[in-house]
Amino acid sequence: MSLFDISERAQQLQNELLDFMDAHVYPAETMYEEQMRAAGDPHFHPPILEELKAEARRRGLWNLFHPHPATGAGLTNLEYAPLAEIMGRSHIAPEACNCNAPDTGNMEVLELFGTEKHKEKYLKPLLDGTMASAFAMTEPGVASSDATNVELSMVKDGDEYVLNGRKWFASNALHKNCKVMIVMGKTDPAAPTHRQQSMMVVPIDAPGVTVMRNLPVFGYADREGHAEIDFKDVRVPVEDLLKGEGEGFAISQARLGPGRIHHCMRAIGAAERALELMCKRAQSRVTFGKPIADNANIQDWIAEARIDIEMVRLLTLKAAYLMDTVGNKEAQTEIAAIKVAAPAIALRIVDRAIQVHGGAGITDDFPLAMSYAHLRTLRLADGPDEVHKRAIARRELRQYRDLRPEGIRA
Ligand SMILES: Cc1cc2nc3c(=O)[nH]c(=O)nc-3n(C[C@H](O)[C@H](O)[C@H](O)COP(=O)(O)OP(=O)(O)OC[C@H]3O[C@@H](n4cnc5c(N)ncnc54)[C@H](O)[C@@H]3O)c2cc1C
Repeated sequence: MSLFDISERAQQLQNELLDFMDAHVYPAETMYEEQMRAAGDPHFHPPILEELKAEARRRGLWNLFHPHPATGAGLTNLEYAPLAEIMGRSHIAPEACNCNAPDTGNMEVLELFGTEKHKEKYLKPLLDGTMASAFAMTEPGVASSDATNVELSMVKDGDEYVLNGRKWFASNALHKNCKVMIVMGKTDPAAPTHRQQSMMVVPIDAPGVTVMRNLPVFGYADREGHAEIDFKDVRVPVEDLLKGEGEGFAISQARLGPGRIHHCMRAIGAAERALELMCKRAQSRVTFGKPIADNANIQDWIAEARIDIEMVRLLTLKAAYLMDTVGNKEAQTEIAAIKVAAPAIALRIVDRAIQVHGGAGITDDFPLAMSYAHLRTLRLADGPDEVHKRAIARRELRQYRDLRPEGIRA
């Protein structure tokens, strides 16, 4: 009996996904690396990934993130959380199951706010896994962790908007199947602070869009890419404005809640895998006449890893439960809390697993170095730690706002 009840179907999906990981995903990791190496192109789309996608689809392990039963699995956040965790154990699993960011968030936005044309042209192939997409909010010129700073201009001209500005860190923009972006910019700089921004659907090959370069992550060129993109007089028809002018901020809040919890669950999966590797390595290598695992400090790391994983998983499940029962807004504190806690805890566990592996830990013979690099980016992507902590602290302090500092009398 689990602490939180989930449906029999969600339980079955967990079993099916675990089997898929053992039978197909882990064995495919080496082939994936070989195909990428042989291609010599960091943005190559390896055939093994399409084989995995076909198998995942055949097993019904497809679009598991998607809460709408007509087009996706129709699972609650609580039901999806353990599945995201399992997929997080391998860097190729989320895409194999069509559950990878930023496509997941973009699909949700198109489902909620897209026109029929957007759904036909973009959502359908995204759900089919034949297209990829990017989300362009962050800009090199302004501190984008405060999204109200975003400056890309969206100026209305007849029945079109004209876009000018620069974005960067648009993940997936160099994916071989990337055809479309959701772009956030300013339609009315004179409007109230949170009504200035809008979001639009922009084809990546629209005239005036230039993908300038890929941004490396600790020297890794991620296959999907994190692109710097220039927008020069890009004309976007008014019907490609999502929801309405001034709705950009509201859409980004709707988009980022589920996205954050997915990242956290995957981070816990990465931590579980690192702990497993740490234990296996510590048991199998001997120094000074005894297995490395027999040293007290190593056992301490292993115990702390187990404690931390259990704590952060419970908090993540609580956040998922609240999102399902009282809504994303009411779950804001818990979502922000896990967004800070999960990557930090996963990073510490991966770091210790690397240490236990010695030199091997930082090579690509093990998935730890890449996992570390990816997890470190999560302390920035979808909002840096400090911004989430700020939000938690402000809500906490709000409860006491009527209190005056001690010693000050009316
Ligand atoms: C791998 C990766 C993938 C990404 N993918 C995408 C994507 O697909 N689309 C997209 O639009 N963006 C993406 N991003 C960008 C990411 O969301 C931003 O980097 C992040 O929001 C921070 O914005 P910034 O880089 O402009 O930092 P800034 O806003 O310049 O902030 C810099 C630092 O200032 C500190 N800081 C900020 N505010 C406060 C505060 N109130 N109190 C204390 N300290 C503070 C924080 O430490 C913060 O890291 C990605 C980033 C990475 C690393």
